[in-house]
Amino acid sequence: MRKPAHLERFGQRTRLVHLGRDPAVQHGFVNPPIYRGSTVLFESMDDLLHDRAEYTYGLQGTPTHTALQTAWNQLTGAAGTLLAPSGLMAITTALLAVLQNGDHLLVTDSVYGPTRRFCDTVLKQFGVETEYFDPRMGAKIKVLMRPNTRAVFLESPGSLTFEIQDVPAIAQVAHAHAAAVLLDNTWATPLFFDAYAHGVDINIEAGTKYLGGSSDLLLGLVSANSRYWPLLHAAHTSLGSAAGSEDVYLCLRGLRTLEPRLRESERQALTIARWLEKRPEVVNVLHPALEQHPDHALWRRDFTGSSGLFSVVLNPVSRAALAAMLDGFELFGMGYSWGGFESLVIPFDPSGIRTAAPWDAPGPALRFYIGLEALDDLMLDLEKGFARLHRSK
Ligand SMILES: *Cc1c(COP(=O)(O)O)cnc(C)c1O
Repeated sequence: MRKPAHLERFGQRTRLVHLGRDPAVQHGFVNPPIYRGSTVLFESMDDLLHDRAEYTYGLQGTPTHTALQTAWNQLTGAAGTLLAPSGLMAITTALLAVLQNGDHLLVTDSVYGPTRRFCDTVLKQFGVETEYFDPRMGAKIKVLMRPNTRAVFLESPGSLTFEIQDVPAIAQVAHAHAAAVLLDNTWATPLFFDAYAHGVDINIEAGTKYLGGSSDLLLGLVSANSRYWPLLHAAHTSLGSAAGSEDVYLCLRGLRTLEPRLRESERQALTIARWLEKRPEVVNVLHPALEQHPDHALWRRDFTGSSGLFSVVLNPVSRAALAAMLDGFELFGMGYSWGGFESLVIPFDPSGIRTAAPWDAPGPALRFYIGLEALDDLMLDLEKGFARLHRSK
């Protein structure tokens, strides 16, 4: 079999199957091998002294890492990609790459909780001031820009609450002030949101979620355009943050089936979200692909799909009734992370956390992740959950 020439001719689904591997140099095996290693031997003293070798030390990556990095660069259009042992480490590496003491950082108020904690602790400790902004302010972010604003950190849709940000409008303002635009694109993945085409400089993906796809992996990918790639590379090297080869391999394996898994998760989640919209217990479904979502027009303009993660706000109920609903689920597991084959649910309340865009839901909120179980089985599990909610009211 010949290696397909000019992969860029093909759509994402086909490219994902072929990117970053070449059976001809893998002794015919379909998948690239897992290289483990610290020491890499040099041919000569001269080579060693001049760092003249394709690989120099395990911390800087192995051919297994290169396979995933190459695939990701080609998929996203990045100038370069680095791998980290978690999504959070990919985020913190990106922030440390662009910020220094005395800088001002703008972060969406709907950001992933641990990102916020890093800004409020470590970055603060090193003299970076973080200011949170309303995820829906778009180009109005201009009023928050200061001469020392070095970066704007976006996450669209926002964690838990699913506000869509006007990434191109924000990027335009940020670039006019010479600030970098960072995006946590974990929800959409490059399949549903093209970060670089919308003005992003540094793009982050928690590989832990959809890329791994099986809840057995922690991994982060952080990539940049040519302007920010040297800074990112330098920070990553200095931090000594390396992903393990076996984890990198698992991520590569997940990449092959990403498109059909994501499409299926999208389809199932949309059906369930529409069904939940009609339930009397539900006040609001926070899913940007639903027509009633306040940012639906923006989502339509910028995204090419939606993933299987969304939230609902319920009418007020007692804590005991909510516990009866959640504790009794047979299929919806309760736990963090998402993107695997199994459906999940968590209760959440961001009211004590947000500072720029207060959360004022009338009742409790639930975040659902819709996995690959049969739709009928999932809906029955939910229906029984609502029945328990009513029984223990
Ligand atoms: C899970 C998640 C992360 C962090 O990934 P980890 O690998 O768990 O550190 C970052 N951003 C978003 C949006 C996430 O959902």
